[in-house]
Amino acid sequence: MHELGIARSIAAIVLDRAEGRPVTRVGLEVGSLAAVVPESIQFCFEVCVRGTPAEGAALVVTEVQASAVCRDCSHRFDVGQWLDPCPRCGSLVLDRQGGDEIAVIEIETGAIEEVA
Ligand SMILES: [Zn+2]
Repeated sequence: MHELGIARSIAAIVLDRAEGRPVTRVGLEVGSLAAVVPESIQFCFEVCVRGTPAEGAALVVTEVQASAVCRDCSHRFDVGQWLDPCPRCGSLVLDRQGGDEIAVIEIETGAIEEVA
């Protein structure tokens, strides 16, 4: 399962940053094209942090809409699928911005610590 590996990485980052302090909340940004199911990530994360200072921490997932700029006509648009062409001119030569990133943006251990 794709999400389990991701959840393991998230748990490792969170525990490293928390330095043994109890974690109450973790903010996660997930690109709309990252192909992860938020509920699945949350479940896997809970399993990964069982017995650690992050046990019981709430994982708050924010989805980030992928966008792209067409290199042919400079049109900017939201990308729904990886291979969506430019809706204005049909070009496939695009500069994508975001979409498949998975990033821990916030770890709350009593005091909020900005990571990004
Ligand atoms: Zn275009």
